[in-house]
Amino acid sequence: QKHFAANAAHELKTPMAVMKSAIQVLHLEEKPSAEEYEETLELCLETTEQLSQMVEELLVISNPKEEAKEEISLKKMTEEIFQKYAGQIQEKDLVVWQQMQQDTWYIHPVLMRFLLENLLSNAVKYNRQGGSIRLTAEIKENQLHLEVADTGIGISPEHLPHIFTCFYRADPSRNKEIAGNGLGLSIVKTAVEKMQGEIIVESEEGQGTCFHVTLPA
Ligand code: ADP
Repeated sequence: QKHFAANAAHELKTPMAVMKSAIQVLHLEEKPSAEEYEETLELCLETTEQLSQMVEELLVISNPKEEAKEEISLKKMTEEIFQKYAGQIQEKDLVVWQQMQQDTWYIHPVLMRFLLENLLSNAVKYNRQGGSIRLTAEIKENQLHLEVADTGIGISPEHLPHIFTCFYRADPSRNKEIAGNGLGLSIVKTAVEKMQGEIIVESEEGQGTCFHVTLPA
């Protein structure tokens, strides 16, 4: 827990330091221009968004509260998520395939959103130019099976056992240009456990990664 708190503090400290120095620079200027104000505001807005997302994620990890299931349109949820990452999807020229046995599912809305948002955003982030993402959802033997597969950089066998650990990032040098804090998959794992499900991952370096989630239907 000590290690977790230290990592969390460090991750929160970095964006705050970025904001603080941007504000200090602006403050030092005698007469900052409108553009300089605009730039600083933009940076602060972006950074506070990152910070609030991290705080929300940390709350999910630490919150012992149970969430009730509801009838939810999974399609609507995934469309909202893909919409959020539309810029990156377009930039990378990714093809998205979605196959859902039905539209409405009896699920935990907040936990499912965290699960899908993290898996899908990773599938975008770690994908290659011109790659694809496949999302499937079906009921088999009274269980909901979800699969998120990508054609991205993959994860090497030595890193694979650790990717669900808080703040773990495989191959930091390769990951340097890809933004992240190593919290996404630990949130996914926590969400899956809270829903009494299971998650397994298959990956091949340079070929792609596939996450299989099984949840009680
Ligand atoms: P983040 O993406 O913020 O680094 P995550 O907890 O979501 O953190 O993932 C942990 C690590 O697992 C990532 O840093 C990356 O190295 C690896 N990873 C996760 N998802 C994928 C994926 N779809 N393809 C390749 N590597 C992945």
